[in-house]
Amino acid sequence: NEVALQVKNLKKYFRLGKNQNLKAVDDVSFEVYKGETFGLVGESGCGKSTTGRTIMGLYEATEGEVFYKGEDVHKMNNKEKFALNRQMQMIFQDPYASLNPRSTVKEIISEPMEIHKMFSNEKEKLDRVYELLEEVGLNRDHANRYPHEFSGGQRQRIGIARALALDPDIIIADEPISALDVSVQAQVVNLMEKLQQEKELTYLFIAHDLSMVQHISDRIGVMYLGHMVELTESEELYNNPLHPYTRALLSAIPIPDPDVEDEREQIVIDGEIPSPINPPSGCVFRTRCPMAMEACAEIEPKWQEIGKGHYVACHLYNDEIDDTPSSAHHSD
Ligand code: SF4
Ligand code: MG
Repeated sequence: NEVALQVKNLKKYFRLGKNQNLKAVDDVSFEVYKGETFGLVGESGCGKSTTGRTIMGLYEATEGEVFYKGEDVHKMNNKEKFALNRQMQMIFQDPYASLNPRSTVKEIISEPMEIHKMFSNEKEKLDRVYELLEEVGLNRDHANRYPHEFSGGQRQRIGIARALALDPDIIIADEPISALDVSVQAQVVNLMEKLQQEKELTYLFIAHDLSMVQHISDRIGVMYLGHMVELTESEELYNNPLHPYTRALLSAIPIPDPDVEDEREQIVIDGEIPSPINPPSGCVFRTRCPMAMEACAEIEPKWQEIGKGHYVACHLYNDEIDDTPSSAHHSD
């Protein structure tokens, strides 16, 4: 598998004051293969958006590296960053907030092309705008209208057209369907899949809900409180989830067919996600984990490959860890 994007020990801390950091992303590593859809999943506040933005270079990394075609994105000079901007584009959860309300669709879509001087005359530009509108299922009559004249799904199509304007390799999609009606979500996902095939795009698809990335992703990484806790192929994740957090997320997804009896164990995780300013010692999931052991409070679980391409960070899969149940869970 050709690697499109490599994220290596990435940390993004936001300084809040003297000796106080919000550890939004804390030592995350993964690779995204060329042409695949990599789903990045976790509850809000888990660091998935920050990971996406740091990869894009919108945030400077606190530590670690992001490689695009072997080049460290964060060590690039301005000229290289500008060139990279053509290859990596982002689409956002709320297309209404990300599209300038005072610009026409034509202006919105052609702006990145203006910045990168991608055409030599107005006609060329307009032709490209029309072509992009058609590619995303809109038409040329839409070019002179404003974002408020469109539905949520149409606005996301405009956002996608804008992201495609520079003919990128990689699209980082930050919850692109979360704000849309359920009936529209599938249409946008289908469009993204069609465009991926036509243009050999690589997607990093960020979502808070596993059911949203279930079908579109080739592989999935599950994040919790700034950490990657599990990563494997999509099917393997559904059939053989290893991390207690992944199991809890999966058990929350209803089985779509009402005739199939739901025989899965229901795992309910109690409590709030802890603050990333003061994360729990040892395993960050331990305050909510039904399987927590004594060692979980003391030792941070290693990121290990359990099966081929199946990674997990949990002491349950580490033979060197004593599996005495923690006293905290005895008492409740
Ligand atoms: Fe639960 Fe311990 Fe595994 Fe963390 S390391 S997920 S607390 S069992
Ligand atoms: Mg987010």
